[in-house]
Amino acid sequence: MVRAIGIHDSVAALFPPTVLAERLTDIDATTRVVGTDEVDDVDALVTFEYDEAFLDAGLDWIHSVQAGIDRFPLDKLEARGISLTNSTGTHGDSVGETVAGMMLSFARRLHQYRSQQERTKWAWAEWDAPFTLSGCSLCVVGLGTLGRGIAARADALGMHVTGVKRTPTPVDHVETVHPSSELHEAISDAKFVALAVPLTDETEGLIGAEELAAMRDDAVLVNVARGAVVDQPALVDALQTDSLAGAALDVFETEPLPEPSPLWEMDEVIVTPHAAAATRDYPDRMAALVRENVRRIDAGERLANHVV
Ligand code: NAD
Repeated sequence: MVRAIGIHDSVAALFPPTVLAERLTDIDATTRVVGTDEVDDVDALVTFEYDEAFLDAGLDWIHSVQAGIDRFPLDKLEARGISLTNSTGTHGDSVGETVAGMMLSFARRLHQYRSQQERTKWAWAEWDAPFTLSGCSLCVVGLGTLGRGIAARADALGMHVTGVKRTPTPVDHVETVHPSSELHEAISDAKFVALAVPLTDETEGLIGAEELAAMRDDAVLVNVARGAVVDQPALVDALQTDSLAGAALDVFETEPLPEPSPLWEMDEVIVTPHAAAATRDYPDRMAALVRENVRRIDAGERLANHVV
């Protein structure tokens, strides 16, 4: 049974932690916002950040308000008997719409016109720069919640969608599903390549100089996964040497993206501040996950979105 749930103050990176506490007033456990030094007083913690202090605080369960759990030490948590759950399954709509918007921006030149507006400049893009997404190809690497959300929207826009999946079973809205061993072949044929894999030992640096070279010169890379899935210096090089046409990047090796990064200044790069999943519904979605797992703990059932 869960008696006291702490909502770590780091959740403020995404939304006010008090809003989540308000959404959870209907459950039997008490909920309150806590700092790292108060974690000892609760038996479950909802958090954005990870801190070593969580390991010895007597917690039974930690819930990550993100889908990615790459900064949590899974072995140590498991050894301490602390269950970790994540927020996968909740970002298909928000990230799917963000990626659709990024691709539409490149096709319809919206980012270019917005930049021009800042300089009060009225001018068409080059006549052969705009295109329509209809008929364009997209390869989605990773076909989980995010990948499927992206694929559904791209299909609705008339795009030809292919994908890469470790087990290449059919996926709705995806015409061809390639196994991971065919990554090069899959990305070499696409106008857009969207990355939607978790950051793991296997996916770190998945898109490096070789993969960027395998992509079309007119291709656009979309990364909403994690920065380290891409070799960022190799990406900068590909963009600077015109062997890649553009990139839409929500995630970076270092966040916030440092000011000296050349990516800030590139016309054909859209930089968003790790905000692809942001939505005013975020606290409601987190509350639903926490509420369901409190119910499961009481019922002795396996946790939803259980990681370790
Ligand atoms: P998910 O678990 O639903 O899907 C991940 C998919 O990737 C799974 O189907 C898995 O089998 C697949 N995968 C793993 N390794 C692979 C590989 N080597 N090749 C091909 N496929 C592989 O998770 P999700 O909710 O879709 O999120 C995916 C990742 O995206 C998260 O781990 C997180 O890092 C990132 N993310 C970013 C944002 C953002 O705001 N930019 C939001 C949510 C998630």
